[in-house]
Amino acid sequence: MLLSLFASRISRRLSFVCSIAVVSTATADTGGLPNFPEDPQTHHWEKVGEGVYAFISPPGITPLVTGNSLVVIGDDGLLVVDSGQFPSLARAEIAEIKKLSPLPVRYVVNTHWHPDHWVGNGEFRKAWPGVAIVSTRNTLALAQAGAGEVTPAYAAAMLASLDKAIAQGGKRRDGTPRPAQEIAYLDMAQAQLRKYHAELETVKLAFPDVVFTNELDLYLGKRLVQVRFLGRANTGGDAIVYVPDAKVLAAGDMLTGPFPYGGGSFYGEWPATLRKLAAFDAIAIMPGHGEVQHDKAYLMRVIQLLDRVNARVAASIAAGESLEQAQQKITLADEVVEFCGGLAFQDWCERSFRGSFIAPAVTRSYREQKEGPLTSEKD
Ligand SMILES: [Zn+2]
Repeated sequence: MLLSLFASRISRRLSFVCSIAVVSTATADTGGLPNFPEDPQTHHWEKVGEGVYAFISPPGITPLVTGNSLVVIGDDGLLVVDSGQFPSLARAEIAEIKKLSPLPVRYVVNTHWHPDHWVGNGEFRKAWPGVAIVSTRNTLALAQAGAGEVTPAYAAAMLASLDKAIAQGGKRRDGTPRPAQEIAYLDMAQAQLRKYHAELETVKLAFPDVVFTNELDLYLGKRLVQVRFLGRANTGGDAIVYVPDAKVLAAGDMLTGPFPYGGGSFYGEWPATLRKLAAFDAIAIMPGHGEVQHDKAYLMRVIQLLDRVNARVAASIAAGESLEQAQQKITLADEVVEFCGGLAFQDWCERSFRGSFIAPAVTRSYREQKEGPLTSEKD
């Protein structure tokens, strides 16, 4: 995911490292601030089918986050979808997988290139040296290209920026007062980054070594697992995983809760790709972040949201408005309430929804409708 809770240089840089957390939100003194989101290094398991387990992380609205993971147990081995951002958490998952089955993990599928979905790969390879790591070619290329941002030096540079911002106390660099919640966010980011930095000192990165174009069928003994590229969506190379005999889907970040992540995404294709996802016969859909969905209602809401963004941008362009005008006018105020209303961490959700979805979504949809399909996630 890409996170820009506060439109600052720091948070944009944070977005590329996505994931870790240290603040104990259950006991944190929020000092009258809205409820803090849950520590991303906690998790819970959900059995989503016979021999299929979802390893669920908290909603990804903290400064650093980690993606969900799916474990599929076959007759002669296991397949795992995504390995998360934190090696320590991957080790915890591996220990629990070993309690579920004595069989080896034969495949790890990386759904896309964002580090919160693959930095744990090295731990799986350490535990099972024969494991094959599977992804689209786009995921392999961008994970390799972004590896410089998964280093102690990069985390240290971000920490230095954060330390500087925090040292300025209650004022931003331009002298304007920094709201209390923004200060709390920076403190949380600092704590999370310190821990992540320490983890990166020992991390051994492992990249995909099996790439596919559109379809790959993997057999865990008799059990079939289908890996598919359905079209561009959240990234240029999102893979989804389907377990037909259990009717379970792992969607990666083309579907996330409590709202979609919009940075670097492809708005001309994303809704159509999600409609292909909706065509699968599924009784459980594990999103890249957020809780498992047991029907398609949330998926359909996300499709409608993306359609609405594209339609409003189209109307804005038809009215002759500039990108800046479109960015100002398309606030999606009702949708902010629809997706975040009633959540324990509603205020954090709303800020994150605006920064991580609405801002990049309007910008990239506008550019695609004006310039034609974008080719890079980084624009
Ligand atoms: Zn993610």
